[in-house]
Amino acid sequence: KSKQAPRPELPELLPGVKNIIAVASGKGGVGKSTVCTNLAVALALKGYKVGLLDADIFGPSVPKMLGVEDSSPALAKKDGRDLMVPIENYGIKMLSIGFFVNKNDAVVWRGAMASNALKQMIADADWGDLDYFLIDFPPGTSDIHLTLVQTVPITGAVIVSTPQEVALADARKGISMFTGDKVNVPILGLVENMSWFTPAELPENRYYLFGKEGCKRLAEEQGYNLLGQIPIVQSIREGGDDGQPVALNQDSITGVAFSQLADNLV
Ligand code: ADP
Repeated sequence: KSKQAPRPELPELLPGVKNIIAVASGKGGVGKSTVCTNLAVALALKGYKVGLLDADIFGPSVPKMLGVEDSSPALAKKDGRDLMVPIENYGIKMLSIGFFVNKNDAVVWRGAMASNALKQMIADADWGDLDYFLIDFPPGTSDIHLTLVQTVPITGAVIVSTPQEVALADARKGISMFTGDKVNVPILGLVENMSWFTPAELPENRYYLFGKEGCKRLAEEQGYNLLGQIPIVQSIREGGDDGQPVALNQDSITGVAFSQLADNLV
């Protein structure tokens, strides 16, 4: 694979960061941010130092999901530079593109502006020492994605999809963006979200609303790990809306699912 461009070295950009993980999806609305946030919480609960960059310029939802929607990052001097101080909650350091745009404005940034804002949140912020730095990518594939992948020394990518065929088709495109000839980012695995629904009153029943095991088949077909299957559960949605990710509740079924997901990643 000699035609692949060299990727930036980790120490230059984020010297204290051990692993930079891109969390991406082909399609929007498949639960990428939900998975990213809960994965971050699960990793933090296991004692890892975790950072999260919400790079989803089209719908930055991590501040709400982490319960810090009304925060705004401060600037602090460090070694003569003004650095953004990530907001911290549940043991996760976080910056979001959402802190820099008006919530009610549609984000119609040109690619270059968005890419610059993202670069600043990476290079001009005090992330310190981290074991895992998760980047919640925007959905799809675009110039912004390519810039991010070419600027940031990403360790590997996690691809989130529902089992539905249209989502899987986009997931394939997402995968090829990371593994294509312009970049060379390893795929760490796939996460199947919204795998099935189990009503509280019929706990034995599984309804495969978006099709059965589509993501599992895609993983097998392309030789990637299936990191986990997350069912549709009302508390997952509520936890996101309330700023209390379900992964915080380690005894719940959903908490266990995200904990296993984290175990499969590390
Ligand atoms: P994306 O980042 O892919 O656009 P989100 O994480 O914002 O998707 O999720 C889209 C919606 O679906 C949100 O309202 C979220 O709360 C909900 N959601 C995501 N995953 C689940 C799940 N496993 N069970 C129930 N609701 C979910």
